[in-house]
Amino acid sequence: MIADLIHKVAREMQPPMQDYRPRPSAWGRCVRASVYHALGYPGKLFPGRMVVLLEDSGFAEDMTIDWIQRTAFKIHSQQLEVQIGATRGGVKIHGSIDGILQDLLGVEYLFEHKAINHFSFERLEASLQDGIWDENLVKWVHQGCCYLVGLAKLSTICRVVFLIKNKNTSAYLEAIGTYSPALDRFTLDSAMSTRVIEDSETGIRGDLRGGLEPMVLDGVVSGFIGYFNRVEELAGAKILPPRPYELSDWHCGYCQWQGVCWEGFEAEINKMLVGVELPENLRDQVKAYIVFRDEAKRAEDQKDVTRSIIVNELQAQGIKKCKAPDGTNVTLRIEERTTINKELVPPAILKAAEKMSQSLKLDVRKPKEKKA
Ligand code: SF4
Repeated sequence: MIADLIHKVAREMQPPMQDYRPRPSAWGRCVRASVYHALGYPGKLFPGRMVVLLEDSGFAEDMTIDWIQRTAFKIHSQQLEVQIGATRGGVKIHGSIDGILQDLLGVEYLFEHKAINHFSFERLEASLQDGIWDENLVKWVHQGCCYLVGLAKLSTICRVVFLIKNKNTSAYLEAIGTYSPALDRFTLDSAMSTRVIEDSETGIRGDLRGGLEPMVLDGVVSGFIGYFNRVEELAGAKILPPRPYELSDWHCGYCQWQGVCWEGFEAEINKMLVGVELPENLRDQVKAYIVFRDEAKRAEDQKDVTRSIIVNELQAQGIKKCKAPDGTNVTLRIEERTTINKELVPPAILKAAEKMSQSLKLDVRKPKEKKA
């Protein structure tokens, strides 16, 4: 009754897209998308679900800050605007920080809050445990360091606390680091997650900085400004950079310029060369692709055979659920799936419900063996 209504209303009531400007939250977005934006191409509306999701993140931030204010730590200067710098063309870059966190001794940190889904949270946790940079954290570090550059004009703050909330479980993860303007380097000082503390049987008390080497990112602010310089340059010359993703990539699925970006893609592909020799730098890749594809097919066949053996034997022994000595659970269950019998649907309705989508297929065939 109202489940779909909310998303429809959210879609229609979303604020109009703002004109392009180099804003910190856009850093790391597909460059081609930013060039479309800078050139004034109208972006399509976000789906309603996305609008609700973004608003949820805003509420999560308010709630977290409310919880922090009930502790001996304090947050102030929420949404303070800071001046970061300017592009090569002289366009000012500014942004608003989430706040400044003050600890028990009065030491201050830039405070940046993120609310993410369980899958992204687990991926971030695992990468920190392995001492590897997660894609999301890299983005936040670039934004955070630029805010620190802006804050440096007003204070001596040089450290940032990223507080990340798992929207599914309300677990929190914090990553604290220092920015060195002289080296243009961010160093991760510590990271911990409350989820790991809860689950921990190893006594690591949630410390996630698992890599042996210190985790550092170099060229952070120069990389940040460099991104916007590139967009400015391309937009000024009215050049669209190549698409960095395939149509099926999730970046394109959420992109507001997906329609215009992929318009005429089939014609582009059809105009490309045929009958030429495979480029030398791809020959090993194609050989490797054939090996992986054949191995995957063999593994898939083997998986089906093994599955049949297990299912038949469990049924023969009348077992629905059982456990192996190493803790592996094996369960038989009925799963229902609804399909549509197209023959029972009037053709006009079927036609109206059809949705065309394109994807790029790669076809690699080995030459036929010549008969002796
Ligand atoms: S549709 Fe994909 S490739 Fe095109 S601009 Fe958007 S993100 Fe970039």
